[in-house]
Amino acid sequence: MDKIAQMKKLIEQINIHNHNYYDLDAPTISDAEYDKLYYTLVDLEKETGTTLPSSPTLRVGGAVLDAFAKKEHPKKLYSLNKVRDEDDLRSWIRDMQSFNPDMTFTVEYKFDGLHLVIEYNDGKFVSATTRGNGFVGEDVSQQVKTIRSVPLEIDFKGHLFVEGEGMMTNHALKIYNRNAEEKLKNARNAAAGAIRNLDPKETAKRNLDFFCYAVLQIEGKTFNSQQEIHEFLQKNGFAIGDYFKVVKTADEVIEQIRWIDSRKSSLDILIDGAVVSINEIRYRDDIGWTTKFPKWAIAYKFVAQEISTTLLDVVWQVGRTGKVTPIAVLEPVELAGATVQKATLNNYDDILRKNVSIGSRVFVRRSNEVIPEVLGLAERGENAKEIEEIKTCPSCGSALVKKGPLLYCPNQNGCFEQIEGRLTHFASRDAFNIEGMSEKTATVLIQMLNVKNPSDLYSLSHEDFLTLDKFKDKKAGNLAKSIEKSKSIDLHKFLYAIGISEVGIKTARDIANRFGSLENIMHAKYSEIENITDIGPIIAKNVYDFFKNEENIAEINKLLTAGVKIKNPAKRDFTSPIAGKKFVLTGTLPTLSRAEATELILAGGGEVAGSVSAKTDYILLGENPGSKFEKAKSLGIKMLSEDEFKKLLS
Ligand SMILES: [Zn+2]
Repeated sequence: MDKIAQMKKLIEQINIHNHNYYDLDAPTISDAEYDKLYYTLVDLEKETGTTLPSSPTLRVGGAVLDAFAKKEHPKKLYSLNKVRDEDDLRSWIRDMQSFNPDMTFTVEYKFDGLHLVIEYNDGKFVSATTRGNGFVGEDVSQQVKTIRSVPLEIDFKGHLFVEGEGMMTNHALKIYNRNAEEKLKNARNAAAGAIRNLDPKETAKRNLDFFCYAVLQIEGKTFNSQQEIHEFLQKNGFAIGDYFKVVKTADEVIEQIRWIDSRKSSLDILIDGAVVSINEIRYRDDIGWTTKFPKWAIAYKFVAQEISTTLLDVVWQVGRTGKVTPIAVLEPVELAGATVQKATLNNYDDILRKNVSIGSRVFVRRSNEVIPEVLGLAERGENAKEIEEIKTCPSCGSALVKKGPLLYCPNQNGCFEQIEGRLTHFASRDAFNIEGMSEKTATVLIQMLNVKNPSDLYSLSHEDFLTLDKFKDKKAGNLAKSIEKSKSIDLHKFLYAIGISEVGIKTARDIANRFGSLENIMHAKYSEIENITDIGPIIAKNVYDFFKNEENIAEINKLLTAGVKIKNPAKRDFTSPIAGKKFVLTGTLPTLSRAEATELILAGGGEVAGSVSAKTDYILLGENPGSKFEKAKSLGIKMLSEDEFKKLLS
């Protein structure tokens, strides 16, 4: 037998023993016998100077790293939108089925581990990266290589990025703890800690697993369904877990969810919910994505972060736009690791609908990003008191105005809470980023120095601040300095800072990139604003109306006169023939890469969208186009070849 063949045989044997030991907890040979096989292989590898890609010696972990390198994902990683009860799930399914009643749904576990992207090329493991912020993660290739369920070699030869979850099974945790000095308590933290450990040998010791569930990007292959993706992953040697279902109706989906819920605590792995997706890829492209998540998939979370507590009182809070919101004051209660004592009641119609009253027990829900919300009545208190709708502004006493279900204080320039809200928003980090402008400082400036508008800040001096209580020379100087420093600002931050209703920092950036300068934005037509991807008619109207309001224009002019300098985004040619046009790319172009084509479109003032819609102007069409092509054809959207595209630009 030649040495390579001998090595192959050893690898096969060792892998079987690994499986018996780690997975089955039933070794069939002694440790000494195992070591003999293992070191024979190590010797042969040294002798031949060859390490076969599937060799277990690659799993022991290499040198300790100084730091994790940053690595960019080939495309953005989305998160999943969540539902927490069956009603919400049913209504999501109904929405989806309205696109096409023939669609089917897949139900899968939602693994509770560390999200990883693993890259393969030419059938070989290339790299592994943590999720990070969705665009850039940490290179954990050396660590992930030690995970035995990550294949180092696969049959598929194209450039491939898969997504999955690095996990520690309860079984592996038990074995690890048997010999560990410091016992690990939680399999999830154990897995995350092992992968984000600079010493790959530590990762190897924890005996992790990798469960693969998605293809992020693939070269030279397309899929028609989630089921095909699943089968592809399995065929290429990835662990995919023991559960995957394709079903058609809402009842069937819910039946599956209940079944998973009932057995989740007896599983060897941690799951925190189920993922329901549309199976057919062609429907996914039609339904599309929001900026945060695909609309065609949803996570059903099992542990509802809900609790009941007593509603003690309701206070009304005035926001910077004048909106007056009822806030529930609650008997403090622990919920998902935090003490909750306030929650929003949204508006008065909502209060009536939920039938809650002061002195009653109410259900409160907390989700990750949003402030807690009162869900509804748990039990009416004996002496419960109805909540009354407020008629006058709690801050300035003005009569409130109702717009739909929402209440507004119309006293824009004389209402303390509105002014304070505008000032702190203006000074916040994503806006003018004025250090030292806390809510407390804002209050003092309004009360003592008669600040009414953000532009008033720029006429205040060091001496003015010295007249304030508790403002010594240093504090006054620092505030004056940070106000001065804030004068130079990016266009999108400026747009965000001036407080256009419902314009967050992301929308502000989209608008800034589209129009390039404040001047252009101020003179933009409504239709031009509305035409920006991700901007709907309401926000477009808010933006358009904002710049038609004389008071707003006066305030902007005051800011500019005070010396505010706006930095415009990188120059884009808004006179080019593709300015304002929306492109969708599909297929492989003959010479341009996707990134290069995108760059050219942006430089010409155009936009690139991920999915085809009626708003799309052009399809930039390459070889082997995806389902976007069919969709675009049915909508009659103009198709451009790379040559035609280049001609259009020249
Ligand atoms: Zn008011």
